[in-house]
Amino acid sequence: MCLSKTKFRGGYAFRRFKGNPGIQVVQHPIPAKGLFLFKKKDGKCLVKIGQEIEMGQGLAEGKVSRLYSSLKGRVSEIKFAKINCEEFYCFYIESDKRGSENYRINRAKDLSSSAIEECLEAAHLMKISRMKSFLAQADSVGSVILHHGEADVFCLKLESLISHIPKETLDRGAKIMESLFPNARLYLAVDKRKIRVLRLSGQDTSAYILKGLSAKYPQAMDAPLAASVLGVKLNDINTALDQGIFIITLQDMAAMVQAVETGQYPLNRMIALAGPAMDNPCHALVRIGTPLSDIIDIKEGVRYIENSLLSGNQIDPAHFSVSLQTECIIAVPEGPESEFLSFARPGLVKDSIVPVFMASFLPVSKQAETNIHGEHRACLNCGYCSDVCPAGILPQMLHRYIERGMITENLVHYRIYDCIECGLCSYVCPSKIDLAFILSKGKSLLKEEALAPEKILNQGAEKQK
Ligand code: SF4
Ligand code: SF4
Repeated sequence: MCLSKTKFRGGYAFRRFKGNPGIQVVQHPIPAKGLFLFKKKDGKCLVKIGQEIEMGQGLAEGKVSRLYSSLKGRVSEIKFAKINCEEFYCFYIESDKRGSENYRINRAKDLSSSAIEECLEAAHLMKISRMKSFLAQADSVGSVILHHGEADVFCLKLESLISHIPKETLDRGAKIMESLFPNARLYLAVDKRKIRVLRLSGQDTSAYILKGLSAKYPQAMDAPLAASVLGVKLNDINTALDQGIFIITLQDMAAMVQAVETGQYPLNRMIALAGPAMDNPCHALVRIGTPLSDIIDIKEGVRYIENSLLSGNQIDPAHFSVSLQTECIIAVPEGPESEFLSFARPGLVKDSIVPVFMASFLPVSKQAETNIHGEHRACLNCGYCSDVCPAGILPQMLHRYIERGMITENLVHYRIYDCIECGLCSYVCPSKIDLAFILSKGKSLLKEEALAPEKILNQGAEKQK
């Protein structure tokens, strides 16, 4: 395996935060009652209360997606819930707590593209990494990036993940990708500090061009990955699909290999339980559909976030269960709205891009929290937001346009559509300006004014159909 080290512009290295999970993996039991969520808009139920269901059976379907059960049992309740302003169906399944021994789909009969596609369809994996869209233009896919980045404040550790992935999975995954995308070069991109872990686990393969990633957030997002690995720039207008770059995580690739080779749908998911308010930060192997309350003790005064501290979604603990997209659950103490004269305090556990707090000089773990540390202030023109921006844009300038109601084509000219909404500018801003939110609002206003590029306006129309 040869290695080349790569990096992208901007980014921020989060070092030493309280609540990072150890590498031990805890196996959670199959839940007695599972919860499965599906967006109500355009969706319809496929089951009724009291109905007996099998693993892998459809519970609901919409125009482009379908919800499956990873439990065998009985539908005990179907409710509606509003989560983050969207309505969801909530299916509760009383499970028979059986393992996966009776559940098998047909494994792929050979490694031809059609046999693999058929198998992935049966295993409900076509939604992963927008596989279906990429397969529709398989010959124009020129690159496959298999990755496991560890640049977020809290994230799944490669050591834990790889300990539950059979040896030679990467080689088998390469054969599947070569069959699906015959013109693609295969890249394997992991944190450069973790190459040794792959070698020790026997996942040392020559089927990929190995890339060592920098440990700077938001390295694991599509645009920084494409920039680091291929030197290609992605944004809202020029997407990975347009460029023929198929990007998939290590955990998702392992699920595909398992489906093709053994004919089994991924029933379990490895997740990291992290954050300063998490009682026992660790890794957990959990059945998909397990409610949050079965995994951890839900506490008052704690904010729960899925996958990324800066760009993930806040969880409604009463209506959350592990899904095929879950990688990390983060628990952070809720702070008061503002902290008077925060900047004048020593800051023994505070993080900052500039070394203004004692924590910068001491070998201590820092505290992630929701406290905003003071009021929103005027922009200081310090330039930290543009220094860290992975898109290389000027958030401090764009936000002024938007805040003053200047929703004009100038925003497009100054590349607002390059913003990947990573939230880093808001994090580093000493004036507490929520730049990422303001830029996202600016994009929506541009679309409303029909000032966005043709492609983006058409995407909106497609979604409304
Ligand atoms: S949210 Fe957008 S503007 Fe802010 S740092 Fe990330 S890419 Fe740059
Ligand atoms: S980080 Fe905040 S204060 Fe500094 S230039 Fe950007 S918007 Fe202004």
